[in-house]
Amino acid sequence: RLENNRKMTEINREAANFFYRCLTSRSNKGFEYLKSRGWKKKTIQQFGIGFAPDQWDALLKHLTSKGYETQLAHQAGLITKGKTKDTYYDRFRKRLMFPIFNSRGEIVGFGGRVIDTEDQPKYLNSPETSLFNKRKLLYGLNLARVHVRESGSILVTEGYTDVISLHEKGYGNAVATLGTSLTADHVHLLSRYTKLAILCFDSDSAGSSAVLRSIDLFAKTDLKIKILTLPEGTDPDQYIRRKGQRAFESLITEAPTSVEYQINLIRKKHSLATVEGKIHFAREVTQILSKLKSAVEREAYAARLAEEMGISKTALLSEVKSSGFRLG
Ligand code: ATP
Ligand code: MN
Ligand code: MN
Ligand code: MN
Repeated sequence: RLENNRKMTEINREAANFFYRCLTSRSNKGFEYLKSRGWKKKTIQQFGIGFAPDQWDALLKHLTSKGYETQLAHQAGLITKGKTKDTYYDRFRKRLMFPIFNSRGEIVGFGGRVIDTEDQPKYLNSPETSLFNKRKLLYGLNLARVHVRESGSILVTEGYTDVISLHEKGYGNAVATLGTSLTADHVHLLSRYTKLAILCFDSDSAGSSAVLRSIDLFAKTDLKIKILTLPEGTDPDQYIRRKGQRAFESLITEAPTSVEYQINLIRKKHSLATVEGKIHFAREVTQILSKLKSAVEREAYAARLAEEMGISKTALLSEVKSSGFRLG
């Protein structure tokens, strides 16, 4: 099995080289599309971006000419079996190709993006193999590791292109999930490298619900999180290209902790101008506070919130007690 995994990373490497040459050595639609994303040549090389040609078996022919067995290419998810017996064709065609590396820098799969907006689905990933488990991999981690140590944090995004643009603009500590929401395995992996994860998801309804699920996941660990919120409808790639590094840096500075984020959501629901509003607000925020492990943290937030509400801290904390939490 180890031997087989080694063979699969080797054939993946060959495929990535092929895709890279297809992108750069002839004029093609992939290259035209890539220009519109505006990445530097160095970035394209660093991430090994390539192009799968608009042909049925360009990769298969190439791999065969290099002496690779069809069986192995199939097992690695590079080719797909046709309906009739013993016919195979390339899984990725006419797509911009993003090799996916494990943290050791081996290529374990690919993500392929359409270059024409009419084509569907937008992204096609390699199928799960013994090497490629989307629930355990983080795109960009192989490059991010060293930067995470320097910056003391990891930026967690949703997309390949977010990672690439952030790295290019100086955020080498950015990684992305692979089209799945963050899993407990991802969080465990993150905890091996850092104590602070900055969530930087797309600002759309999918992104917002991903934030709420992630808050629950991280609550079970010692990792701290901050939640960066982008303007509605944008993602990190679009934001940093349009607004630049300094604007993005302020968003990081302003990013609330998970407690602050949750309190902000509650604040939006209830008006503190009425007694009724205050009661609902108090009940919901004390729910959040009661989950905090640190008494110091709980007291600090309670003091701040009590002041905001114009009541005493004692009154607010007694709400924590009556919500069923035993203080001390
Ligand atoms: P781009 O900027 O190229 O449009 P994106 O990363 O912003 O890409 P999103 O639609 O925000 O694309 O999706 C985020 C991530 O989710 C993608 O990077 C990809 O990993 C995954 N994804 C998106 N659509 C699909 C799909 N149809 N099938 C599988 N994974 C997908
Ligand atoms: Mn999205
Ligand atoms: Mn995008
Ligand atoms: Mn996006």
